[in-house]
Amino acid sequence: MSATRSTITLVPTPIGNLDDITLRAVQVLREVDTVVAEDTRVTGRLLQHLGISKPLVSFHAQNEHRMVEQLVQRAGRGERMALVSDAGTPGISDPGFLLVRAALHAGITVECLPGPTAFVPALVNSGLPCDRFVFEGFLPQKKGRSTRIRELATEPRTVVLYESPHRVLKLLQEMTEVFGGDRPAAVSRELSKLHEETVRGTLAELVAHFTAHEPRGEFVVVVGGTGH
Ligand code: SAM
Repeated sequence: MSATRSTITLVPTPIGNLDDITLRAVQVLREVDTVVAEDTRVTGRLLQHLGISKPLVSFHAQNEHRMVEQLVQRAGRGERMALVSDAGTPGISDPGFLLVRAALHAGITVECLPGPTAFVPALVNSGLPCDRFVFEGFLPQKKGRSTRIRELATEPRTVVLYESPHRVLKLLQEMTEVFGGDRPAAVSRELSKLHEETVRGTLAELVAHFTAHEPRGEFVVVVGGTGH
């Protein structure tokens, strides 16, 4: 189904390779009245690449609380909207949830197209069980971080995390201390991009690898659960 009256459509966008946009995503972006974007410059470039010109509205972590009501009202008046983030699926470690919840509360139809997201290829690539897993997104940077890591140490399912290049080695070191160095894990970087790479090994081996090779790019960390 394409975007219809009083519908907000979440549209996943490529996490690297621009060819990963789906035909439906392009169709919806063509049909809507407005594209609500995390960074209007990033989305402007994508739309330009697709040959689409649309009014853009900015919706990001700093303004989402204040924008939600306005966007819901506009959608309620029949304005067809697509929500996109800079990369991947909106709402997955990106703005989206607050708008979805408010729209549903106001009786607006919400649809999310299937499409690119970083954690699925990283999980499947990892070689670790992907029948049951937990997605943790980014761990808190300070308060609650060590508690969360301790909780995850006893998690039986495969654990999937996002981390920045500046903190990925620290995360692997922290998990090595708490989970034990022999826990199997995989780190995927730059998925769908030129320098895509997945490194698999124990947590201790991954710490050694990223100590020798400075982490660059975007990272997904996948760690086997206690039942791996
Ligand atoms: N909404 C996105 C999704 O659906 O995956 C996630 C957005 S979050 C702000 C950005 C994080 O996603 C990055 O720090 C990295 O952990 C992960 N990520 C995004 N693109 C990636 C890529 N091409 N390769 C590896 N990780 C990626």
